[in-house]
Amino acid sequence: MKLICIGRNYADHARELGNEVPENPVIFMKPDTAVLKKGSDFYLPEFSDDVHYELEVVLKISKGGKYITEEHAAKHIEEIGLGIDFTARDLQSELKKKGLPWELAKGFDGSAVLSEFFKKEDYDLSRLNFSLIKNKETVQRGNTSLMLFSPEKIIAFVSKFFTLRTGDLIFTGTPQGVGKVAENDVLEAFLEDRKVLDLRIQ
Ligand code: MG
Repeated sequence: MKLICIGRNYADHARELGNEVPENPVIFMKPDTAVLKKGSDFYLPEFSDDVHYELEVVLKISKGGKYITEEHAAKHIEEIGLGIDFTARDLQSELKKKGLPWELAKGFDGSAVLSEFFKKEDYDLSRLNFSLIKNKETVQRGNTSLMLFSPEKIIAFVSKFFTLRTGDLIFTGTPQGVGKVAENDVLEAFLEDRKVLDLRIQ
């Protein structure tokens, strides 16, 4: 199973980190060992002093394919969920400065937190509200209508390069409001009105 992640898919978030709005989706991957075990707390890694949460809508690929067209892309997703793309921002900034890949800052153990997955038909994926609450305060509020690249566009683009397989996951990018986590923080994520994640930072 692979975890494909999109960077800078919301203009307001690209700007908050001082990045240009991209012409094509920005793609990186996390290894499957990045997935945090269900029910586990998130442990801050010793190699970073600035780990950020990034709440994202996650697509689960239900049918594999290569060169999937935008118009057929929806048939390749049956379930959606939310995920947190934990990022060692200090390390990422260093890597970016040197023009190096981001994997160390993005793909470390536990850096991919996943909710349960839900049937796509129960939601309107093109206008989905999602939000993250840190210690009882809302810190991120997103709506998928504000994506620069829609789920269909992402699948069409990504599948030109990588064969998609059943069970692959796509993190679709985070909206504005990313920030640092500290020990004892509690993160709660909502898909519309449904609480789908409850995570403690250690
Ligand atoms: Mg992200």
